This record gives sequence, structure tokens and C-alpha cells, in this order.
Amino acid sequence: MQLAARARNIGASPTLAMNARAKEMVQQGIDVLSFTVGEPDFDTPIHIAETGIEAIKDGFTRYTPAAGIPELKEAICTKLKRDNNLEYEPSDVVVSNGAKHSIYNALQALIEDGDEVIIPAPYWVSYTEMVKLNGGIPIVIPTMADNGFKLTPEQLEEKLTDRTKAIFINSPNNPTGAVYAKKELESLASILVPRGIVIIADEVYEKLLYDGAVFTSVASLGPDVKEHTVTINGVSKTYAMTGWRIGYAAAPRALARAMANIQSHATSSPNSIAQLAATAALTGDQAPVQKMLAEFARRRELMVTKINTIPGMSCRKPEGAFYVFADVADLFGRTIRGQQINNSTDLAELLLSEAHVALVPGAAFGLDEFIRFSYATSTDVIERGLARVKNVLAEAQ
Ligand code: GLU
Repeated sequence: MQLAARARNIGASPTLAMNARAKEMVQQGIDVLSFTVGEPDFDTPIHIAETGIEAIKDGFTRYTPAAGIPELKEAICTKLKRDNNLEYEPSDVVVSNGAKHSIYNALQALIEDGDEVIIPAPYWVSYTEMVKLNGGIPIVIPTMADNGFKLTPEQLEEKLTDRTKAIFINSPNNPTGAVYAKKELESLASILVPRGIVIIADEVYEKLLYDGAVFTSVASLGPDVKEHTVTINGVSKTYAMTGWRIGYAAAPRALARAMANIQSHATSSPNSIAQLAATAALTGDQAPVQKMLAEFARRRELMVTKINTIPGMSCRKPEGAFYVFADVADLFGRTIRGQQINNSTDLAELLLSEAHVALVPGAAFGLDEFIRFSYATSTDVIERGLARVKNVLAEAQ
């Protein structure tokens, strides 16, 4: 059987694949400590979970409107107004099976064959692949650690062509935690908007901010920017609801309608029960979010401090999200237990086999000199995992 080129040209998501490998090894009885997938280790707050249980008991178990139930769309509009100063109406909102699906819908609705999509690197692993799956061409622009891993207007301008259709702006960023200041977003938008380039603003980590970092939603910069922006968000990271699979997009009406139509053919509505739970998440008590955030902040301190004591590794303090992107270039060319480390994948493989520590190589995010640790895991795992990494790397020759 001959598979379509689009299927032949992509592999599995590296974050999910590394997570699956770690889990498989654990099942085989190997004590693997995992820093792979970005998934809060907390339970979904109880009032949200109970709303889901009640939904099942009440028989709320049927198809819903393809773009989501009115209550949830209203709750999303209220949230966007309350938290982001954004005015959207329910018809501008499409609820999907996770924010990943929202991004996919947006690309389906926007990208023609050969359209170019700007992706600042490091980027979340699925952006490039989703662009390719939709016939587009990812135009990757590497950012610099000295600039806080943020795209500059000069870098952006250099890569624009008359085929540039869209750009991804992901703040707080996965994997670096970088948070764009309002002024920085304004400079980028002032280049993009006059050219009619669509901004795909992935804001899924907006609530995970540290040390007073301030989040600005791209569409809030002004009505003209809003007209060119699709805002992507979801409940997975903020409310520890990864398995419920609810994300959403808010977009100019015509784009939202197109995304809803596409979704109505591809997947129908998202899960009815999860939609009610997501409504409870957005409208209910926000105290659990602050509690989880406080715990992430503690883990971040611990992880950054520990990583910076490991010879050959260094990292900056991320301002947001729950990842540390550590520079490991100093280890390249060194040998440990007979294995030469030439790139981030070699290092990730070595740490998995020799230290039983799982993480995601920077190559998956478009910057090979780094590796990503997720600190959405316990302080105990962080302590023990980084001690193992340190011990194995101490053998580097
Ligand atoms: N976004 C998370 C991560 O980067 C979840 C896994 C995924 O979908 O990539 O780990």
C-alpha cells in the first residue's frame, strides 16, 4: 500500500513519542524518571471533575453543535473579556478537541499549497508538521538565547515574501518559557498587519507566569491586529485537563465559520461531557489555578538551580509555561560510556539508556544545541532525575 506523501513526510510527535517510550520502559519494570510531555501531574480540580460526572448522570452524552455548546462559548467570551480585554461573540468562537486541533482547523481554513508560514524557533514540535500537512511551507527563524529567545522585527522582515500567509506567535513559549512584552508584540504586529499576514497566537500557557511576568494577548493590541489574529487557547494546561481535550479558537467571524465547517466534517463536536467541565473550569473558582502555579514556581526554582550546577549544561530562568530549555552544546563531541554525543538526540538517547531519565531533544523544537525538561512533575522526580543526569554527565570525556 502506497501512503500519501503527506503521511510519508512526517513522524510521530516527538513529545508524545518520548513520553510513550518512557511509559513503556516503566511498564517493563525500569525505573524511568520522565521530564518529557508538558502535562500537569495534578488531578483536575474536583469541582470541574464533578461537573463532568454530573453531566454523564444527567444524560448530557449526545452530539452538541459542532463548534461547541452555547454555555461554553459564552464562558469563553466572558473569559476573553475578563482576562484579555478582548470582545468576541459566541459566533467568533470554535471549541475543539484540544488547542492542537484548534490550530489544525485554523491552518486548514487558511493555507493554500505553497503558502509560507513563519515559525520562530525554538517552536512547539507540531507547528511545522501541521503546516506541512496542510500544504504549507514552514519558514523557520531561529531566535537567540541572548534575546530571550524572542523574534526581532529585523529577523521577521528578512523572511517575509509575497507567499507569507501566517505566523505563529507562542507566548509564553513552549519550550523556552519566553514571554513577549506588549511593546515587542506591537513591533511585530506593525510589520505583519499592513501586509495582511495572519497571526496564529498560541496563548495556551497564559496563566503560567513567574516573577511578575506580564502576559499580553496579541489580539488585544488593537482592532486591526484583532482582525488579523486567531487566538488559540484551551483548558489543558491551566486546569490540569489534558485528557479532557478541550481547546478553543476566537477569530474573525469568517475564519471562525470556516473552521467550524471544517470541524463539522472532520470530527463533529468535541466531547459533550468535557465541554460542560470546561465551562465549570472557566466560570468557577480560580483558586486551584493559583495553587498549581505556586507549585510550578517552586519546581522551576529547583530545576533551574540544579541544572546550572551540572557541568556542560546551563539554562536561563523561564518567565512562563513549565519547561526549561537547557543549553547542552558544551557536551557535543564528548564521550560517555563509549558513546559520542554529537547532537541533542544522542544526548537524550544516552540519558534515557544510561540514566533512565527521559526528556525531549532540542532538535524536535528546531534548536539542536538544547534539551527540554518539563517541570510539570514532582520535586522528588526533579531532585532524583537531575542527580542521575549529573552523575552520568560527570563521566564525560
Ligand atoms: N504540548 C505539550 C508538550 O509540548 C503536550 C504534548 C504535545 O502535544 O506535544 O509536551
